[in-house]
Amino acid sequence: MLSYRHAFHAGNHADVLKHSIIVHILRHLAQKDKALWYLDTHAGAGVYELFSAYATKNAEYETGIARLWTQRDLPPLLAEYVAQIRALNPAGDLRFYPGSPWLAWQLTRSQDRLRLFELHPTEIKVLRDNFSQLETDQKPRALLSAGDGFTGLKTLLPPPPRRALVLLDPSYEDKQDYQRVLDTLQQSLRRFATGTYAIWYPQVQRLESQRFAEQLKKISEKSWLHASLQTCQPSLDGYGLYGSGMFILNPPYALAENLKVALPYLVRILGQDATATFKLEQHTI
Ligand code: SAM
Repeated sequence: MLSYRHAFHAGNHADVLKHSIIVHILRHLAQKDKALWYLDTHAGAGVYELFSAYATKNAEYETGIARLWTQRDLPPLLAEYVAQIRALNPAGDLRFYPGSPWLAWQLTRSQDRLRLFELHPTEIKVLRDNFSQLETDQKPRALLSAGDGFTGLKTLLPPPPRRALVLLDPSYEDKQDYQRVLDTLQQSLRRFATGTYAIWYPQVQRLESQRFAEQLKKISEKSWLHASLQTCQPSLDGYGLYGSGMFILNPPYALAENLKVALPYLVRILGQDATATFKLEQHTI
């Protein structure tokens, strides 16, 4: 299903949760000199203009990044994330919002590599255009593939440096995505058990979404962390995103402690009604 365009949703509460966690993980991994790979199975367009016709349609960023933009008391995990958005908006006004590929590009070094998959013909074209402006060195750091990220990922594991963050971030408009994520994760762990895997999922009124976190927890005996952020009550008509979750396998040690502070803060700033809440669960070995 290729009707989904992430530009409609760029910078919304789900992007805030996902991208603040990605920033934390990449900053942690980049503390060691040893090379790392960033693998993104569903990359999107890379950068979004918030005043484009797409982004202003529902103005989802107004109840996401825009609410954090003016805060002066951000907890460390969110301050690190907002600093990245500021780097993309040096003039000071919030105009551009980065997707996961741009964040990964910013937070990785010359020894690191990015492997990005995007199936939508328009999105991959925009992603390529964005990266052609970033890649000024003779030796490109990012390889962009127009194709299915689920199958593409398997061909890259294990990554040569044996250190990587894998982001699985489909839109789930096709309900098969839930099972495909579970299968891909299971197969990927057989090839590369020590990688850090981050899986985003939507909180929507669909059975597949509601049982997904429990299914993810059963995939492996490894350490995991599960964070979810609900910003409003599920709608009466049964449609719409009322929150989202991130499931991280082999998470960095400081992520849970940071989220303990960041998640209640996000409930306070991004919550749209009294049902706004968060969940933070972890399993450590
Ligand atoms: N990861 C991006 C970010 O955080 O900025 C957002 C990705 S968006 C939620 C999902 C993207 O996956 C869309 O751009 C869609 O076109 C793309 N897509 C859908 N099915 C795909 C597939 N099987 N393989 C690769 N990309 C796919």
